[in-house]
Amino acid sequence: MRTGKTVGRFAPSPSGRMHLGNLWSCLLAWLAARSVSGEMVLRLEDLDPDRCRREYCDQVMRDLEWLGLDWDNTPVYQSQRTEIYAQAFRELEGQGLIYPCFCTRAERLAASAPHRSDGVAVYDGRCGRLTAAEREKLFQTRCPAWRVRVPEKETAFTDLLQGPFSENLARDCGDFILRRSDGVYAYQLAVVVDDALMGVTQVVRGSDLLSSVPRQLWLQDRLGLPYPEYGHLPLLLAPDGRRLAKRDRDQELGQLQQRYTAPEIVGLLAYAARLTDRPAPITPHELIPLFSWEKLPKEDIVLEQ
Ligand code: GLU
Repeated sequence: MRTGKTVGRFAPSPSGRMHLGNLWSCLLAWLAARSVSGEMVLRLEDLDPDRCRREYCDQVMRDLEWLGLDWDNTPVYQSQRTEIYAQAFRELEGQGLIYPCFCTRAERLAASAPHRSDGVAVYDGRCGRLTAAEREKLFQTRCPAWRVRVPEKETAFTDLLQGPFSENLARDCGDFILRRSDGVYAYQLAVVVDDALMGVTQVVRGSDLLSSVPRQLWLQDRLGLPYPEYGHLPLLLAPDGRRLAKRDRDQELGQLQQRYTAPEIVGLLAYAARLTDRPAPITPHELIPLFSWEKLPKEDIVLEQ
């Protein structure tokens, strides 16, 4: 049992306008923290310069405020923290865990064993077996990505909502990329460093990230960082059963705002979360006393047309 103050977080990727699925995660993460008088911090996951823009960050904050969700710190921008990730990367390098990977995308796919639970291919580790001479030669031709070597080891944890989950990192996941060939640090590295440095004790997010937890727990171990607790929410699915994506324009906040007020959207989400018995307008603050983990559904939710 955890003691001390709960610190939850919003960690949106500002690569476009938020959609209903992002609002769902943000609302429930906020309620999980506020219902135990916890704090909420905000981190803008804008590491990818090809996809993220400063104006999207500003928009995300306006949208959270519009919905009635607040946070306690000065927002943290991952794009400004490269040196912090570099330090963690060097630490892992010092432990002999990092190697350059020269595979192209096509080679990576060819070099992969069966797919892991989140549908991503398991890399077979071939660049980790190159000799020093082979590496030297390849360095002349290509800029490598950098992978971390994972152990043949079962990593288990209990999710607040989904229950026990475990993965053998080498078998189910494979050596994964911590730094891209263009120098951008990977999500898996940034997220563990930032959650620890921001004092986050509770991570609530979509179940599409459930299979990231073993990798994150293992990195936390290697870097001597504390573990937060994790709660993975069912996903909201489009009427045809697909996951919502930023390209689903009708579920994007700009479109929703033309049809609904903020309390109406919160009311729909609260009803989908089984916190209320009908989809009536309500504010996030009014929902605080109604939140409990026991009420939340575990299965994904298909939105009606
Ligand atoms: N930035 C990720 C997203 O918007 C969330 C990452 C996380 O919560 O760990 O999907």
